[in-house]
Amino acid sequence: MRIVLMGAPGSGKGTQAQRLVTQFHIPQISTGDILRQHRKDGTELGRRADAIMAAGKLVDDATMLEIIRERIARPDAQSGFILDGFPRTQPQAEALTALMKDLGTPIDAVVLFDVGADELVRRISGRRTCSLCNKVFNIYSAPPTSPATDCVAGSAEHQLFQRKDDEEATVKERLRVYEQNTRPVLSYYSDAGLLRTVRAEGAPQQITQRLLDALAPAPAVTKPAKAAKPANKSARRAPTRKRAAKKAAPRRPSAKSRTGASVRRPATRKKAKSKGGARRRAAPASAAVKRAGKTRATQRRRPRRSKR
Ligand SMILES: [Zn+2]
Repeated sequence: MRIVLMGAPGSGKGTQAQRLVTQFHIPQISTGDILRQHRKDGTELGRRADAIMAAGKLVDDATMLEIIRERIARPDAQSGFILDGFPRTQPQAEALTALMKDLGTPIDAVVLFDVGADELVRRISGRRTCSLCNKVFNIYSAPPTSPATDCVAGSAEHQLFQRKDDEEATVKERLRVYEQNTRPVLSYYSDAGLLRTVRAEGAPQQITQRLLDALAPAPAVTKPAKAAKPANKSARRAPTRKRAAKKAAPRRPSAKSRTGASVRRPATRKKAKSKGGARRRAAPASAAVKRAGKTRATQRRRPRRSKR
């Protein structure tokens, strides 16, 4: 399972990503962490990134993709991965699609952690960091255990403070920038039929369950797909569809209304129906066709893929 996680700062996707790691036994690939590691290890990539950053620039997309390509080639990522922190722009999303197509391992799902703006501001502005040990608390959701503000009871050196980044005004600006950059990426993935929106408010355990539900249709129907032949198509497809539709139904409306993707869907749906499922699976076609065709076809037919 190859998953991309999307979510604003404070959406809690880091916590949930860790749960997916446990659930699916696939690594979490955080581009920020990998980049830091490359720089620390002084690899060729790391030195290049150092030079770029020393010049006050952002690491370019080509370098980021090289980092991802190198990481997903490692043995632990062969059955999938959870990509976090990339893509952040539409060109990056397109480049990622091209890379995965090149490798013959397309992204299975893009999950958006949906949290209301007010809640995000509350979560982030509630953060307090210890000046001594850098431990992070949240005055709302994970308050310090001792009644004082110290993270070690009775220690005067452990003082909690609010990072400049976490101040309300800064948070609002960060979220505005995030929204602006991310909206096209979400539309892109919605058009590709990959976007799954998970409401990320409530108890962490609840959110995990929603997340697993959102990702469930694919593994659930993997087996019938292997044997599916055009001749038995109707017999085999009926239960598959019913199951997929049942699981997918609750989250579709939010994904659609968010991106307006519903406008495009009827056409793609018709197209997907008229084409042979086997052919579609065998030949992923050009990026444009693929993008259009994936809208419905992926959600319906992905489960039928035998390659996982
Ligand atoms: Zn401390």
